[in-house]
Amino acid sequence: MKKDQFLTRRGMLIAGAAALGAAGTAGALTLGAGDEPARTAASAAGPQARPVLSPSAYRLQPLTGYGPPQRTAARTAVRHEPFLRVSGRGRTMVLTFDDGPDPRYTPHILDTLAEHDVRAMFFVCGEQADWNRDLLARMADEGHVVGNHTWSHPLLTRLSRSRIHSELQRTSKVIEDAYGERPLWFRAPYGAWNRSVFQIEAELGMEPMAWTVDTEDWTTPGTRVIVDHVEDGAAPGVVVLSHDAGGDRSQSVRALRRYLPHLLDSGYHLTVPRRRYA
Ligand SMILES: [Zn+2]
Repeated sequence: MKKDQFLTRRGMLIAGAAALGAAGTAGALTLGAGDEPARTAASAAGPQARPVLSPSAYRLQPLTGYGPPQRTAARTAVRHEPFLRVSGRGRTMVLTFDDGPDPRYTPHILDTLAEHDVRAMFFVCGEQADWNRDLLARMADEGHVVGNHTWSHPLLTRLSRSRIHSELQRTSKVIEDAYGERPLWFRAPYGAWNRSVFQIEAELGMEPMAWTVDTEDWTTPGTRVIVDHVEDGAAPGVVVLSHDAGGDRSQSVRALRRYLPHLLDSGYHLTVPRRRYA
């Protein structure tokens, strides 16, 4: 896609940004040092419109430095909704990749991110991470954030509390061993959270993060369609969901190579959230 077409299309997207949350925006993470805590919520009422989470308990800022590893994740507050977007100064977006790592695709995604000096989030599954520890170490070296996406990608809402705990705990342990610190973020497979999941992730020190824009790359719709999903959905605060494993992800790899330079040329700041307690 030509850049000018992209910019033109974005003009309409800004006006429609509030509608992005209509699919169930719970709350927005605040990004940007010095920004006032912001809340962005779906004012557009829909069947799934939900109340806004108070962001007052903590604020987030972009990851701009590399602090000492955090060995122990403190228990966090129990949420009732996952975060679906971020908010902050300017055109901030977050790229996320789920279900990996996969040695066939993840290295290419890391190469593209490195080429453009961009940090992203990887929500990994324990059973993938366990035999790809080198890739988690590379993510740590290159400043990416690794989150927990369960051990075996089950539908958690059908599991007992003890099995949910096991899925999350085992994965956090592998991440700690390979990445160097325990994960601070959790994403439920299929976006399926329930009260037990919120409670257990909080016990393990993780905050729930969903997404704003689904690239639907898991349907392998073609590289162009994935690129269009990202560029059509681009707006300040958007969290993009893609996959680096779970099937043939060569389209996802190629799509990133196309949309990432477009987003950067359009003035987007692609970053990762950092939790900072006030
Ligand atoms: Zn997944």
